[in-house]
Amino acid sequence: MGGVRKYVKARRKNAEKACKAMREKREEEKRKREEEERQRGEGGRTVENVTPGTSRDTPGTSRDTPPRTTPPPHNTTISSALKRKQYLQSKEEDTVVEDEYIIVKKSYLQDQFSQVSCSNCYGKLKTKYNHKFLDCLIEFECEDCGMRGKNPEVGNTPVTQSLIYSTMDLGLGRTGLDRFLGDMNMKPLARNYSYYQSLVTVAAKKKVTDIMTSAIPAIKQLYSEANGVYDIRVIYDGSWQKRGHTSNLAMGAVIEAETGLVIDYEIMSKYCEKCTKKENAVKRKTISKEAFEEWLVGHKEECKKNYEGSSGGMEAAAAVKLFGRSLEHNLRYKVFISDGDSSAYDAVCKMNDGEGP
Ligand SMILES: [Zn+2]
Ligand SMILES: [Zn+2]
Repeated sequence: MGGVRKYVKARRKNAEKACKAMREKREEEKRKREEEERQRGEGGRTVENVTPGTSRDTPGTSRDTPPRTTPPPHNTTISSALKRKQYLQSKEEDTVVEDEYIIVKKSYLQDQFSQVSCSNCYGKLKTKYNHKFLDCLIEFECEDCGMRGKNPEVGNTPVTQSLIYSTMDLGLGRTGLDRFLGDMNMKPLARNYSYYQSLVTVAAKKKVTDIMTSAIPAIKQLYSEANGVYDIRVIYDGSWQKRGHTSNLAMGAVIEAETGLVIDYEIMSKYCEKCTKKENAVKRKTISKEAFEEWLVGHKEECKKNYEGSSGGMEAAAAVKLFGRSLEHNLRYKVFISDGDSSAYDAVCKMNDGEGP
């Protein structure tokens, strides 16, 4: 809670700082442009008359800089790609990661360990690797006196879980992970992907709930209350799992406009893995239609499919759901900020027979 308040404050401060810096930069650029235009105005005529063949003999111009007749469009502003590169480079330089993961080739370690001897008899040490998928601990045993280090047991699997999370985040899934592990010459994860995926999902959902629960009270502090309800300004946006209008999964999120904190989100799905498997079984006649109907009753609760229709309509459908339940948090989304696609806005306006949410 305190952390979020601090975060909100810091964000505002950063935003103010960024605005000021942007203003200054724009002014500086304008000055530069004007200066350049002035210089072009003075020397333009002579440069225009220079042809590439004669440029070598003309003082002040060289073959490397061919004469320009029109000013280049982006010669004063720094490109966004370059900005990003510079940003990443600066990040790389001053980033200190505590307890970071590293990828080491086993033979490199082996070479190093061959220089180390037993503390008991100066004998040769044997190394053993205890794996729990990608998490690995190293065990030593003396080949001469048999002394062993404490048997390290791999308990938690932070490395494995981090990588699984990453493949989910990137939308690579099990196939992507298998390829990655294959390319990197690492142990395959075999059948355990779903198990680790479920661990990651539970942890991620808990984290999201924790953040949103503390975000809402912090947001309320920025607005005044009337009859127990806060009228707030929000940004609404949706996203699809795949480009084009073929995605089975989409999501919509309501973001508070001042702080950028997510208040609520909704996932829309046109697909349920369990349903599809059962439907295919019916088609293959391995289960009867009646048995399927019976199964469906019990499955309804956990069914992932909550949308039917075009993929393009998912963003609007999520908006309707989200705006319909804002009062659960004693919030009313009074100002709707969104991108060029107004379908979500239209859908929200049409709620409750055109009365709006
Ligand atoms: Zn020894
Ligand atoms: Zn289902």
